[in-house]
Amino acid sequence: MQGLAEELRRLVAEARTAQDWGAPADYIPELAKVDPEQVGVAVCLADGQEIGAGDADVPFSIQSISKVFSLAAVLGRLGDDLWRRVGREPSGTAFDSIFLLEQEQGRPRNPFINAGALVTTDALLGGREPRQALSEIMYLVRAAAEDDDIHIDKAVAESEKATASRNTSLLYYLKSHDNLRCPPEMVLGTYAHQCAIEMTCHQLARSGRMLAMIPGAPAMISSHRARRINALMMTCGQYDGSGNFAFRVGLPGKSGVGGGILLVAPGRASIAVWSPGLDGYGNSKVGTWLAERIADYTGWSVFAP
Ligand code: GLU
Repeated sequence: MQGLAEELRRLVAEARTAQDWGAPADYIPELAKVDPEQVGVAVCLADGQEIGAGDADVPFSIQSISKVFSLAAVLGRLGDDLWRRVGREPSGTAFDSIFLLEQEQGRPRNPFINAGALVTTDALLGGREPRQALSEIMYLVRAAAEDDDIHIDKAVAESEKATASRNTSLLYYLKSHDNLRCPPEMVLGTYAHQCAIEMTCHQLARSGRMLAMIPGAPAMISSHRARRINALMMTCGQYDGSGNFAFRVGLPGKSGVGGGILLVAPGRASIAVWSPGLDGYGNSKVGTWLAERIADYTGWSVFAP
């Protein structure tokens, strides 16, 4: 798709003229060090082609995008039992909010807000050592991307653990409602490590092929499961910015405070965009702009043929 490759280069050049890149997350000190004026994109197409532009080979911290992989891993392990502990409704609240948890007796609204992701990680641990749960996530990510070089940035994990007052509060709150099985410190450490997985746009787009159900991609999850995860990405993937993201982009997406967004055009493509500066919801500012422009150019949308 020569036209799309050229368009990606053109859009990245336009993005680089941005006046306002947004600011990198600073509550995790390691992430605050990243230069915000970077932008990359990679697309894996249904015919097996892979194209990219800009800083598509620069590794970044995938942060909450890892919640997609931990969810896929735990559903593979527990199946629908997970839903007794986590809901499937958009929250309309910030990614690290505790507000609804009180109202709903410790059952997080969905697996993509932090409270829900912490329960998901707890369920994946299931009494095992953190190393085992993390290996399961890493196996899934590496196999889906067909790349064994993907690794965890230990400095980012330690940085998050050292400043995790909010996630620690969420964990103890979940525990008080009997929705946590493992020790809070263990879940926090495992979660901080999964969030610190480092990937490039190319690696991330390749790993997303399992959700786009692209023929020829490693078959890591069933199409039924992919369809459900995509639905959650669409409704909950950008926290309280999810409705606006659906309106602007029209594709399931999952953001992370490292500035990455994984987008799924079912049957057509898996897309990764990255730019570290965030908007007020903790989603990549230039990345969202780029995602919107790609959707406009290609016409890919789950709301239109
Ligand atoms: N590790 C981050 C946190 O829990 C992830 C948040 C995000 O990427 O949205 O605060």
